[in-house]
Amino acid sequence: MSTTYAYAATDAKSKLAPFEFQRRELRAHDVQMEVLFCGVCHSDLHTARNEWKNTVYPAVPGHEIVGRVTSVGPDVTKYKAGDLVGVGCLVDSCRTCPSCSEGLEQFCENGFVGTYNGQDRVSGENTLGGYSTQLVVDEAFVLSVPDNLDAAGVAPLLCAGITLYSPLRTWGAGPGKKVGIVGLGGLGHMGVKLARAMGAHVVLFTTSPSKVEDAKRLGAHEVVISKNQEEMNAHLNSFDLIVNTVAAQHDLNPFLNLLRRDATMVLVGAPEHDHPSPQVFNLIMKRRRLAGSLIGGIAETQEMLDFCGEHGITSDIELIPMQQINDAYERMLKSDVKYRFVIDLDSLRQ
Ligand code: NAP
Ligand code: ZN
Ligand code: ZN
Repeated sequence: MSTTYAYAATDAKSKLAPFEFQRRELRAHDVQMEVLFCGVCHSDLHTARNEWKNTVYPAVPGHEIVGRVTSVGPDVTKYKAGDLVGVGCLVDSCRTCPSCSEGLEQFCENGFVGTYNGQDRVSGENTLGGYSTQLVVDEAFVLSVPDNLDAAGVAPLLCAGITLYSPLRTWGAGPGKKVGIVGLGGLGHMGVKLARAMGAHVVLFTTSPSKVEDAKRLGAHEVVISKNQEEMNAHLNSFDLIVNTVAAQHDLNPFLNLLRRDATMVLVGAPEHDHPSPQVFNLIMKRRRLAGSLIGGIAETQEMLDFCGEHGITSDIELIPMQQINDAYERMLKSDVKYRFVIDLDSLRQ
């Protein structure tokens, strides 16, 4: 067992505060790592504040983790002490159901085990995430981090990166395709970078006029202020794919109007309150599709990391000490982050 320093939420209303606990003894296939950096995902905030009504307290959020391996269990073959590794949203799954067999562990039919707020399949204990100095994870759910990338900027790839990479690949973003990304937050800014690197024509939709120049710098060919009707009308019936990352309830119709026949809008934003149903005729008249997507499987996450290594892609980050997490949550709610907070876990080491 090893003493781990962390920040935890103890109920939906209190601020996150220091919390100490023991990581488990290594099992045969376990990898132990010193957590170096952990990204701050909007899902962390949804969970800390019980917005999805399933939080087990104390809750230690964090599922965008980059760490350095410190020791491994006796049967580990993939990693050794000193390796730079990543852990995303998943730390286990049943590994035998049809989805697991296809490498789609995020859709495990027996329920995947989340990096936090999950139930360990052996001990039954609540899993505690990456806002902590150490982590122990089965090697099958540990990723290899390309060594040419900045380690802090890699952390957000483990959730924000894969959450956009997977639908962009699934729905064929690439040369000749017009792809929209809605919302320039942690997920959205990765969507812009990834879709651009895949060769698509990228249009970013934002509610924040102050983000227009940044969106272009990040790779958007065009930027649309989604509240401006005229700007929206200029894109009617023209998109092959739109990925919507917005973290709040909103009207989907203005975006569905922009899809061409047979095109798809994929929802990845997971707001506390559901969006109102879009108008049915808006879908049936052009055989448009409304879909959802959840992070990505382990193999696809490794593929995404390798893609980012090849293309030199990392997240734009603001590095913060753990002690600033509560302020960071408030700023994230105001869309005031460029474009992902990443916690430097050195701030917790004693
Ligand atoms: P974030 O950094 O807070 O970004 C969300 C963006 O949505 C904001 O930057 C803002 O962009 C836009 N937005 C926020 N409130 C809005 C409103 N009321 N109306 C219109 N636009 C609004 O959050 P994130 O970390 O990227 O996460 C986004 C969502 O995805 C969260 O709900 C999170 O839980 C979810 N998520 C889902 C998955 C999955 O697998 N499906 C994985 C990770 C996260 P602009 O300022 O540009 O308008
Ligand atoms: Zn996340
Ligand atoms: Zn399974």
